[in-house]
Amino acid sequence: MEKVTASIITIGDELLIGQTIDTNSAWMAQQLNGMGVWVQRRVAVGDTKAAILQALDEESAAADIILITGGLGPTDDDITKPALLEYFGGTMVQHAPTLQYLMQRFESRGLPVLQRNIDQALVPDSCTVLMNNHGLAPGMWFEKNGKVFVSMPGVPHEMKGIMTDHVLPRIQEQFHTRAVIHQTLLTSGLGESFVAERLLAFEAQLPPNIKLAYLPSYGLLKLRLTALGDDKVSTAAALKLQFQQMQSLLADIAVYDEDIPMGAVLGRYLQAKGKTVGTAESCTGGYIAHSITAVAGSSAYYNGSVVTYSNAMKVKLLGVKDDTLAAHGAVSEATVREMAAGALKVLNTDYVMAVSGIMGPDGGTPEKPVGTVWIAAGSADNIVTVKHRLMYDRERNIQMTAIYAMNELRKLL
Ligand code: AMP
Ligand code: MG
Repeated sequence: MEKVTASIITIGDELLIGQTIDTNSAWMAQQLNGMGVWVQRRVAVGDTKAAILQALDEESAAADIILITGGLGPTDDDITKPALLEYFGGTMVQHAPTLQYLMQRFESRGLPVLQRNIDQALVPDSCTVLMNNHGLAPGMWFEKNGKVFVSMPGVPHEMKGIMTDHVLPRIQEQFHTRAVIHQTLLTSGLGESFVAERLLAFEAQLPPNIKLAYLPSYGLLKLRLTALGDDKVSTAAALKLQFQQMQSLLADIAVYDEDIPMGAVLGRYLQAKGKTVGTAESCTGGYIAHSITAVAGSSAYYNGSVVTYSNAMKVKLLGVKDDTLAAHGAVSEATVREMAAGALKVLNTDYVMAVSGIMGPDGGTPEKPVGTVWIAAGSADNIVTVKHRLMYDRERNIQMTAIYAMNELRKLL
């Protein structure tokens, strides 16, 4: 079976100057990949007609499907539509359903409809219109020289709506895609070189259509197996067999057999046990709470957090002893133990995590340099503590602390 290829063009000056991070490409690539379309290039260009036309030429020279986002707003800086008109030909026509939707939206908000908004319902008659049910700019599907081009708004949730409602089903229908199946094992506690040594024989025996990738990420090492095949069922079966083999070779360091964030992993463990958790956070300022509650349904196992940034609040809200703080300091094993014990009571949970550390860039001392962090995790009858020395910038130190704390508790579960 032929490999179906795609290219993604993101349009917008904000992407080039780093003001907006291009999350659209990543999401679209995941969706395409999941249905067996191979994304071979991703390009970002500014809001100029010449750059857009050049990108359309270059990308369609190689790929079967060209997905485009951005530049469809009502303001003069957005010029994707005239560029598309020039590239594909035709004339601008009013798309009646979009105009109707647009008028309704403005009316229901009691706002006047401006000409520049009415113009958002204009589309080249050379395209098939893909209705945008989440915003004003419709998606546009073009075909030229056997290639498919789809233009969508840059606003991520509008793009996702159009992709899900129209683009992905149409691609599936029009192209006979190969099966690409991934499975990822999350591990922790062993560096990638050591893991590679251990997997030497395993990698050597992998069939040619199954590849192993090492992805170190925030205190974890992700091992992704990717299988490519013509038939989904047999490809999935072959992948499963290899994955299980890899899992058994790495049983001692395996964290989870799905690529989900640590907050979600911890949630799955807690839910399986029917237990609750709470957090006492100093240096992470609520980041662990955020990581846990970013997962839908976390209210089933997460009670809450006490963010005690100052010593006074550690004493007042968590019952940490003045003497402990005076003798050992806020960043100490004794303090995180007392924070954990206090949080278990205050938050009335089965399990707890407590963290206190120096995230930098300032605040370090010779005895406790920047990056020193103490973590406590456990339950009323068993609290374990660990000390880490992180070497990153403030933001990453906070993220790493959260992941280490959640992983510490996960180990106990
Ligand atoms: P536009 O369709 O160019 O009017 O884009 C509208 C908004 O969507 C921009 O202001 C950005 O905030 C956002 N946006 C555009 N392109 C992307 C992208 N590739 N990834 C994430 N957000 C984007
Ligand atoms: Mg724009």
